[in-house]
Amino acid sequence: MTGALTDLRVDGDRLWSTLMETAAFGRTAKGGLCRLALSPEDAQVRRWFVAACEALGCAVTIDQLGNIFARRAGSSPDLPPIAIGSHLDTQPTGGRFDGILGVLAGLEVLRTLDDAGFVTRHPIEVVNWTNEEGARFAPAMLCAGVFAGAFEMDYALSRQDKAGVRLEDALEQSGFRGPAPVGGRPLAAHFELHIEQGPVLEAEGLEIGVVSGVQGIRWFDVEISGLACHAGTMPMRLRRDALQAAARLAVAVDEIGRSEPDTSLSTIGIFDAYPGSRNTVPETIRMSVDLRHPRADGLDGLEQAFRAAAADIAGRLQVEIAVQPVWSSPPVVFDPRVVGAIDAATQRLGYSRRSIVSGAGHDSVYIARVAPTGMIFTPCDDGISHNEAENMSPAQAERGANVLLQAILQFDGTV
Ligand SMILES: [Zn+2]
Repeated sequence: MTGALTDLRVDGDRLWSTLMETAAFGRTAKGGLCRLALSPEDAQVRRWFVAACEALGCAVTIDQLGNIFARRAGSSPDLPPIAIGSHLDTQPTGGRFDGILGVLAGLEVLRTLDDAGFVTRHPIEVVNWTNEEGARFAPAMLCAGVFAGAFEMDYALSRQDKAGVRLEDALEQSGFRGPAPVGGRPLAAHFELHIEQGPVLEAEGLEIGVVSGVQGIRWFDVEISGLACHAGTMPMRLRRDALQAAARLAVAVDEIGRSEPDTSLSTIGIFDAYPGSRNTVPETIRMSVDLRHPRADGLDGLEQAFRAAAADIAGRLQVEIAVQPVWSSPPVVFDPRVVGAIDAATQRLGYSRRSIVSGAGHDSVYIARVAPTGMIFTPCDDGISHNEAENMSPAQAERGANVLLQAILQFDGTV
Protein backbone atom coordinates (compact mmCIF):
# COMPACT_ATOMS: atom_id res chain seq x y z
CA MET A 1 0.00 0.00 0.00
CA THR A 2 1.17 3.46 -0.78
CA GLY A 3 2.02 6.01 1.88
CA ALA A 4 -0.80 8.19 0.64
CA LEU A 5 -3.45 5.66 1.65
CA THR A 6 -2.06 4.94 5.11
CA ASP A 7 -2.12 8.71 5.60
CA LEU A 8 -5.76 8.96 4.58
CA ARG A 9 -7.97 10.43 7.36
CA VAL A 10 -11.65 11.21 7.67
CA ASP A 11 -12.88 14.80 7.96
CA GLY A 12 -13.74 14.98 11.67
CA ASP A 13 -15.59 18.30 11.33
CA ARG A 14 -17.75 16.94 8.53
CA LEU A 15 -18.54 13.79 10.53
CA TRP A 16 -19.50 15.87 13.56
CA SER A 17 -21.73 18.16 11.53
CA THR A 18 -23.61 15.19 10.06
CA LEU A 19 -24.10 13.83 13.60
CA MET A 20 -25.45 17.19 14.75
CA GLU A 21 -27.51 17.81 11.61
CA THR A 22 -29.32 14.47 11.77
CA ALA A 23 -29.87 14.87 15.53
CA ALA A 24 -32.63 17.29 14.51
CA PHE A 25 -34.74 14.27 13.49
CA GLY A 26 -36.46 13.28 16.72
CA ARG A 27 -34.67 15.72 19.02
CA THR A 28 -36.00 15.78 22.60
CA ALA A 29 -36.30 18.77 24.93
CA LYS A 30 -33.32 17.50 26.93
CA GLY A 31 -31.11 17.31 23.83
CA GLY A 32 -31.36 13.59 23.23
CA LEU A 33 -33.29 11.67 20.59
CA CYS A 34 -36.60 9.84 20.38
CA ARG A 35 -36.37 8.07 17.05
CA LEU A 36 -38.26 4.81 17.43
CA ALA A 37 -37.88 2.30 14.61
CA LEU A 38 -40.02 3.16 11.54
CA SER A 39 -41.56 6.22 13.22
CA PRO A 40 -41.94 9.44 11.17
CA GLU A 41 -38.64 10.66 12.71
CA ASP A 42 -36.87 7.44 11.73
CA ALA A 43 -38.27 7.82 8.20
CA GLN A 44 -36.88 11.38 8.13
CA VAL A 45 -33.33 10.32 8.98
CA ARG A 46 -33.61 7.38 6.59
CA ARG A 47 -34.56 9.69 3.72
CA TRP A 48 -31.65 11.98 4.67
CA PHE A 49 -29.25 9.01 4.71
CA VAL A 50 -30.43 7.65 1.34
CA ALA A 51 -30.09 11.10 -0.26
CA ALA A 52 -26.59 11.59 1.17
CA CYS A 53 -25.47 8.20 -0.17
CA GLU A 54 -27.07 8.75 -3.57
CA ALA A 55 -25.30 12.11 -3.80
CA LEU A 56 -22.05 10.11 -3.65
CA GLY A 57 -23.21 7.91 -6.51
CA CYS A 58 -24.00 4.93 -4.30
CA ALA A 59 -26.52 2.32 -5.39
CA VAL A 60 -29.12 2.05 -2.61
CA THR A 61 -30.94 -1.24 -1.97
CA ILE A 62 -33.76 -1.55 0.57
CA ASP A 63 -34.90 -5.01 1.63
CA GLN A 64 -38.33 -6.19 2.72
CA LEU A 65 -37.56 -5.32 6.36
CA GLY A 66 -36.33 -1.81 5.57
CA ASN A 67 -32.64 -2.63 6.02
CA ILE A 68 -30.79 -0.10 3.82
CA PHE A 69 -27.61 -0.98 1.90
CA ALA A 70 -25.73 1.90 0.21
CA ARG A 71 -23.05 0.48 -2.07
CA ARG A 72 -19.96 2.25 -3.39
CA ALA A 73 -18.59 0.17 -6.25
CA GLY A 74 -15.20 -1.52 -5.98
CA SER A 75 -12.65 -2.24 -8.68
CA SER A 76 -13.33 -6.00 -8.55
CA PRO A 77 -17.07 -6.26 -9.10
CA ASP A 78 -17.05 -10.01 -8.42
CA LEU A 79 -15.99 -9.51 -4.80
CA PRO A 80 -18.71 -9.31 -2.13
CA PRO A 81 -18.94 -5.97 -0.34
CA ILE A 82 -17.25 -5.02 2.90
CA ALA A 83 -20.17 -3.80 5.04
CA ILE A 84 -20.14 -0.99 7.59
CA GLY A 85 -23.33 -1.39 9.59
CA SER A 86 -25.19 -0.13 12.64
CA HIS A 87 -28.56 1.53 13.34
CA LEU A 88 -30.26 4.93 13.12
CA ASP A 89 -33.14 4.12 15.50
CA THR A 90 -32.97 5.06 19.18
CA GLN A 91 -34.51 4.42 22.57
CA PRO A 92 -37.49 6.66 23.51
CA THR A 93 -35.15 8.79 25.65
CA GLY A 94 -32.02 7.90 23.73
CA GLY A 95 -28.81 9.68 22.85
CA ARG A 96 -27.34 11.08 19.66
CA PHE A 97 -24.58 8.49 19.16
CA ASP A 98 -25.72 4.93 20.00
CA GLY A 99 -25.82 3.25 16.59
CA ILE A 100 -25.92 6.53 14.70
CA LEU A 101 -22.16 6.98 14.96
CA GLY A 102 -21.62 3.64 13.21
CA VAL A 103 -23.83 4.52 10.23
CA LEU A 104 -22.70 8.12 9.80
CA ALA A 105 -19.03 7.19 10.22
CA GLY A 106 -19.65 4.74 7.37
CA LEU A 107 -20.96 7.62 5.27
CA GLU A 108 -17.89 9.65 6.25
CA VAL A 109 -15.62 6.78 5.11
CA LEU A 110 -17.36 6.82 1.71
CA ARG A 111 -16.99 10.59 1.45
CA THR A 112 -13.30 10.36 2.38
CA LEU A 113 -12.66 7.70 -0.27
CA ASP A 114 -14.56 9.83 -2.77
CA ASP A 115 -12.51 12.94 -1.98
CA ALA A 116 -9.31 10.90 -2.39
CA GLY A 117 -10.58 9.48 -5.68
CA PHE A 118 -9.69 6.02 -4.41
CA VAL A 119 -11.55 2.87 -5.37
CA THR A 120 -11.25 -0.15 -3.06
CA ARG A 121 -11.09 -3.66 -4.48
CA HIS A 122 -14.26 -4.73 -2.66
CA PRO A 123 -17.41 -2.68 -2.94
CA ILE A 124 -18.13 -0.89 0.36
CA GLU A 125 -21.68 -1.01 1.69
CA VAL A 126 -22.96 1.18 4.49
CA VAL A 127 -25.91 -0.53 6.19
CA ASN A 128 -28.69 0.80 8.40
CA TRP A 129 -30.25 -2.18 10.22
CA THR A 130 -33.95 -1.79 11.10
CA ASN A 131 -35.18 -1.90 14.71
CA GLU A 132 -31.91 -2.59 16.51
CA GLU A 133 -33.07 -1.10 19.80
CA GLY A 134 -36.12 -3.28 20.32
CA ALA A 135 -37.73 -0.27 22.01
CA ARG A 136 -40.71 -0.16 19.64
CA PHE A 137 -40.76 -3.77 18.42
CA ALA A 138 -39.29 -6.48 20.67
CA PRO A 139 -36.89 -8.19 20.44
CA ALA A 140 -33.80 -6.06 19.84
CA MET A 141 -31.57 -6.52 16.77
CA LEU A 142 -34.62 -7.91 15.01
CA CYS A 143 -33.96 -7.24 11.34
CA ALA A 144 -30.23 -8.01 11.43
CA GLY A 145 -31.40 -11.21 13.13
CA VAL A 146 -33.68 -12.10 10.21
CA PHE A 147 -30.89 -11.23 7.76
CA ALA A 148 -28.65 -13.71 9.60
CA GLY A 149 -31.30 -16.44 9.87
CA ALA A 150 -31.82 -16.12 13.64
CA PHE A 151 -35.51 -15.18 13.23
CA GLU A 152 -38.16 -15.99 10.64
CA MET A 153 -39.44 -13.25 8.36
CA ASP A 154 -43.08 -13.77 9.43
CA TYR A 155 -42.09 -13.51 13.08
CA ALA A 156 -40.49 -10.10 12.43
CA LEU A 157 -43.38 -8.79 10.32
CA SER A 158 -45.90 -9.74 13.00
CA ARG A 159 -44.15 -7.98 15.92
CA GLN A 160 -46.42 -5.33 17.45
CA ASP A 161 -45.69 -2.07 19.21
CA LYS A 162 -47.57 -0.91 22.34
CA ALA A 163 -50.35 0.55 20.21
CA GLY A 164 -50.82 -2.78 18.42
CA VAL A 165 -49.23 -1.59 15.15
CA ARG A 166 -47.54 -4.48 13.37
CA LEU A 167 -43.99 -4.03 12.09
CA GLU A 168 -45.25 -4.90 8.62
CA ASP A 169 -47.70 -1.96 8.70
CA ALA A 170 -45.10 0.38 10.20
CA LEU A 171 -42.76 -0.52 7.32
CA GLU A 172 -45.49 0.31 4.82
CA GLN A 173 -46.32 3.63 6.52
CA SER A 174 -42.66 4.65 6.68
CA GLY A 175 -42.18 4.07 2.96
CA PHE A 176 -39.23 1.80 3.67
CA ARG A 177 -40.66 -1.59 2.80
CA GLY A 178 -38.25 -2.43 0.01
CA PRO A 179 -38.34 -5.10 -2.68
CA ALA A 180 -35.05 -6.92 -1.94
CA PRO A 181 -35.16 -10.29 -0.19
CA VAL A 182 -33.85 -10.31 3.40
CA GLY A 183 -30.55 -12.15 3.75
CA GLY A 184 -28.77 -14.26 1.19
CA ARG A 185 -26.56 -11.27 0.50
CA PRO A 186 -22.90 -12.29 0.81
CA LEU A 187 -20.72 -9.90 2.78
CA ALA A 188 -16.92 -10.09 2.74
CA ALA A 189 -16.97 -8.65 6.26
CA HIS A 190 -19.09 -6.51 8.60
CA PHE A 191 -17.46 -3.68 10.58
CA GLU A 192 -19.38 -1.79 13.27
CA LEU A 193 -18.16 1.33 15.06
CA HIS A 194 -20.10 1.99 18.27
CA ILE A 195 -19.79 3.95 21.49
CA GLU A 196 -18.72 1.67 24.33
CA GLN A 197 -21.87 2.40 26.39
CA GLY A 198 -19.78 1.58 29.47
CA PRO A 199 -17.07 3.27 31.54
CA VAL A 200 -14.01 1.08 30.95
CA LEU A 201 -12.17 2.93 28.15
CA GLU A 202 -12.72 6.34 29.73
CA ALA A 203 -11.64 5.12 33.17
CA GLU A 204 -8.43 3.72 31.71
CA GLY A 205 -7.77 6.81 29.61
CA LEU A 206 -7.83 4.81 26.37
CA GLU A 207 -8.89 6.01 22.93
CA ILE A 208 -10.12 2.84 21.21
CA GLY A 209 -11.56 -0.53 22.23
CA VAL A 210 -10.79 -3.40 19.86
CA VAL A 211 -13.82 -5.61 20.51
CA SER A 212 -12.97 -9.31 20.70
CA GLY A 213 -16.57 -10.50 21.03
CA VAL A 214 -19.84 -10.18 22.87
CA GLN A 215 -20.45 -11.88 26.19
CA GLY A 216 -22.91 -14.73 26.53
CA ILE A 217 -26.00 -14.52 28.75
CA ARG A 218 -28.03 -17.15 30.61
CA TRP A 219 -31.31 -16.35 32.35
CA PHE A 220 -32.98 -18.47 35.03
CA ASP A 221 -36.21 -18.34 36.98
CA VAL A 222 -35.74 -19.56 40.54
CA GLU A 223 -38.57 -20.63 42.80
CA ILE A 224 -37.84 -21.36 46.46
CA SER A 225 -40.51 -23.23 48.39
CA GLY A 226 -40.60 -23.37 52.19
CA LEU A 227 -43.45 -23.35 54.68
CA ALA A 228 -45.66 -20.44 55.69
CA CYS A 229 -46.13 -20.25 59.45
CA HIS A 230 -46.84 -17.84 62.30
CA ALA A 231 -44.05 -15.35 63.00
CA GLY A 232 -44.80 -15.46 66.72
CA THR A 233 -45.21 -19.15 67.42
CA MET A 234 -42.76 -21.11 65.24
CA PRO A 235 -39.29 -21.45 66.82
CA MET A 236 -36.45 -20.37 64.55
CA ARG A 237 -34.88 -23.84 64.51
CA LEU A 238 -38.02 -25.41 63.06
CA ARG A 239 -38.68 -22.91 60.29
CA ARG A 240 -38.42 -23.55 56.57
CA ASP A 241 -38.11 -19.89 55.63
CA ALA A 242 -37.96 -19.39 51.86
CA LEU A 243 -36.73 -15.82 52.18
CA GLN A 244 -33.78 -16.74 54.36
CA ALA A 245 -32.77 -19.34 51.77
CA ALA A 246 -33.20 -16.75 49.02
CA ALA A 247 -31.06 -14.25 50.92
CA ARG A 248 -28.22 -16.76 51.19
CA LEU A 249 -28.62 -17.65 47.51
CA ALA A 250 -28.52 -13.94 46.60
CA VAL A 251 -25.20 -13.56 48.41
CA ALA A 252 -23.84 -16.69 46.72
CA VAL A 253 -24.90 -15.42 43.26
CA ASP A 254 -23.17 -12.10 43.94
CA GLU A 255 -19.96 -13.88 44.95
CA ILE A 256 -20.14 -16.04 41.80
CA GLY A 257 -20.41 -12.86 39.70
CA ARG A 258 -17.34 -11.46 41.45
CA SER A 259 -15.28 -14.63 40.93
CA GLU A 260 -13.53 -13.27 37.82
CA PRO A 261 -13.36 -9.52 38.38
CA ASP A 262 -12.92 -8.45 34.75
CA THR A 263 -15.16 -10.99 33.06
CA SER A 264 -17.97 -12.59 35.07
CA LEU A 265 -21.24 -10.83 35.97
CA SER A 266 -24.32 -11.89 37.94
CA THR A 267 -27.56 -10.06 38.69
CA ILE A 268 -30.77 -10.76 40.56
CA GLY A 269 -33.24 -8.29 39.08
CA ILE A 270 -36.53 -9.75 40.29
CA PHE A 271 -37.17 -10.81 43.88
CA ASP A 272 -40.74 -11.38 45.08
CA ALA A 273 -41.84 -12.82 48.41
CA TYR A 274 -45.18 -14.58 49.06
CA PRO A 275 -47.58 -14.38 50.77
CA GLY A 276 -46.06 -10.98 51.62
CA SER A 277 -47.45 -10.56 55.12
CA ARG A 278 -45.58 -8.93 57.99
CA ASN A 279 -46.26 -11.69 60.52
CA THR A 280 -46.02 -14.74 58.29
CA VAL A 281 -42.78 -16.58 57.50
CA PRO A 282 -42.48 -16.42 53.67
CA GLU A 283 -43.38 -19.64 51.93
CA THR A 284 -42.36 -18.85 48.34
CA ILE A 285 -39.72 -16.67 46.74
CA ARG A 286 -39.58 -16.10 43.01
CA MET A 287 -36.39 -14.53 41.71
CA SER A 288 -34.49 -14.13 38.46
CA VAL A 289 -30.79 -14.83 37.93
CA ASP A 290 -28.79 -13.34 35.03
CA LEU A 291 -25.28 -14.76 34.45
CA ARG A 292 -22.84 -13.33 31.88
CA HIS A 293 -19.42 -14.36 30.66
CA PRO A 294 -17.51 -13.90 27.39
CA ARG A 295 -16.76 -17.62 27.01
CA ALA A 296 -19.07 -20.65 26.93
CA ASP A 297 -16.85 -22.61 29.36
CA GLY A 298 -16.88 -19.60 31.68
CA LEU A 299 -20.68 -19.50 31.56
CA ASP A 300 -20.75 -23.23 32.30
CA GLY A 301 -18.59 -22.60 35.36
CA LEU A 302 -20.86 -19.82 36.63
CA GLU A 303 -23.96 -21.96 36.12
CA GLN A 304 -22.41 -24.95 37.91
CA ALA A 305 -21.39 -22.80 40.88
CA PHE A 306 -24.89 -21.26 41.01
CA ARG A 307 -26.63 -24.65 40.90
CA ALA A 308 -24.26 -26.09 43.54
CA ALA A 309 -24.97 -23.13 45.85
CA ALA A 310 -28.72 -23.60 45.36
CA ALA A 311 -28.50 -27.33 46.21
CA ASP A 312 -26.36 -26.64 49.29
CA ILE A 313 -28.68 -23.91 50.62
CA ALA A 314 -31.79 -26.02 49.93
CA GLY A 315 -30.33 -28.81 52.05
CA ARG A 316 -29.21 -26.59 54.91
CA LEU A 317 -32.45 -24.56 55.14
CA GLN A 318 -34.85 -27.43 54.45
CA VAL A 319 -36.47 -25.75 51.43
CA GLU A 320 -36.88 -26.73 47.79
CA ILE A 321 -35.12 -24.65 45.15
CA ALA A 322 -36.22 -25.12 41.53
CA VAL A 323 -33.96 -23.60 38.87
CA GLN A 324 -35.52 -23.15 35.44
CA PRO A 325 -33.45 -21.91 32.45
CA VAL A 326 -35.58 -19.39 30.50
CA TRP A 327 -33.29 -17.85 27.87
CA SER A 328 -29.69 -17.87 26.74
CA SER A 329 -27.54 -16.08 24.21
CA PRO A 330 -24.23 -17.77 23.44
CA PRO A 331 -21.01 -15.75 23.53
CA VAL A 332 -19.86 -14.34 20.20
CA VAL A 333 -16.19 -14.41 19.27
CA PHE A 334 -15.44 -12.01 16.44
CA ASP A 335 -13.48 -13.00 13.35
CA PRO A 336 -9.70 -12.88 13.89
CA ARG A 337 -9.06 -11.30 10.48
CA VAL A 338 -11.50 -8.47 11.12
CA VAL A 339 -10.31 -7.96 14.69
CA GLY A 340 -6.72 -8.10 13.43
CA ALA A 341 -7.42 -5.44 10.79
CA ILE A 342 -8.98 -3.17 13.44
CA ASP A 343 -6.07 -3.72 15.82
CA ALA A 344 -3.44 -3.09 13.13
CA ALA A 345 -5.24 0.06 11.98
CA THR A 346 -5.48 1.40 15.54
CA GLN A 347 -1.79 0.76 16.08
CA ARG A 348 -0.87 2.42 12.78
CA LEU A 349 -2.91 5.47 13.75
CA GLY A 350 -1.05 5.67 17.06
CA TYR A 351 -4.19 5.55 19.21
CA SER A 352 -4.06 3.96 22.67
CA ARG A 353 -6.20 0.82 22.78
CA ARG A 354 -7.19 -2.34 24.58
CA SER A 355 -9.02 -5.51 23.76
CA ILE A 356 -12.55 -5.39 25.18
CA VAL A 357 -15.64 -7.61 25.31
CA SER A 358 -18.99 -6.01 24.53
CA GLY A 359 -21.43 -6.18 27.41
CA ALA A 360 -24.37 -5.10 25.26
CA GLY A 361 -25.95 -6.70 22.22
CA HIS A 362 -25.42 -5.17 18.76
CA ASP A 363 -26.42 -5.89 15.16
CA SER A 364 -22.97 -7.48 14.80
CA VAL A 365 -23.99 -10.27 17.20
CA TYR A 366 -26.26 -11.72 14.52
CA ILE A 367 -24.29 -10.64 11.45
CA ALA A 368 -21.31 -12.55 12.90
CA ARG A 369 -23.27 -15.73 12.08
CA VAL A 370 -23.15 -15.03 8.33
CA ALA A 371 -20.08 -12.82 7.76
CA PRO A 372 -16.64 -12.24 9.28
CA THR A 373 -17.45 -9.50 11.79
CA GLY A 374 -15.72 -7.12 14.20
CA MET A 375 -16.45 -3.99 16.20
CA ILE A 376 -14.63 -0.83 17.23
CA PHE A 377 -15.54 0.95 20.49
CA THR A 378 -14.95 4.60 21.31
CA PRO A 379 -15.33 5.97 24.82
CA CYS A 380 -18.41 8.04 25.71
CA ASP A 381 -18.85 10.42 28.63
CA ASP A 382 -19.10 8.54 31.96
CA GLY A 383 -20.14 5.42 30.02
CA ILE A 384 -23.70 6.77 29.90
CA SER A 385 -25.96 5.47 27.13
CA HIS A 386 -29.68 4.84 26.53
CA ASN A 387 -30.00 8.29 28.05
CA GLU A 388 -30.56 11.74 26.56
CA ALA A 389 -27.34 12.86 28.25
CA GLU A 390 -25.30 10.37 26.17
CA ASN A 391 -22.29 12.30 24.86
CA MET A 392 -18.87 12.05 23.28
CA SER A 393 -16.33 14.53 21.89
CA PRO A 394 -15.78 15.32 18.20
CA ALA A 395 -12.20 13.99 18.57
CA GLN A 396 -13.48 10.66 19.91
CA ALA A 397 -15.88 10.30 16.98
CA GLU A 398 -13.11 11.24 14.54
CA ARG A 399 -10.66 8.68 15.96
CA GLY A 400 -13.29 5.94 15.75
CA ALA A 401 -14.04 6.79 12.12
CA ASN A 402 -10.32 6.85 11.27
CA VAL A 403 -9.93 3.35 12.69
CA LEU A 404 -12.96 2.26 10.65
CA LEU A 405 -11.46 3.72 7.46
CA GLN A 406 -7.98 2.28 7.95
CA ALA A 407 -9.27 -1.13 9.10
CA ILE A 408 -11.38 -1.38 5.94
CA LEU A 409 -8.42 -0.46 3.73
CA GLN A 410 -6.41 -3.11 5.58
CA PHE A 411 -9.10 -5.77 5.13
CA ASP A 412 -9.54 -4.78 1.49
CA GLY A 413 -5.86 -5.55 0.98
CA THR A 414 -5.02 -2.06 -0.11
CA VAL A 415 -2.79 -1.27 2.88
ZN1 LIG B 1 -26.55 0.54 19.46
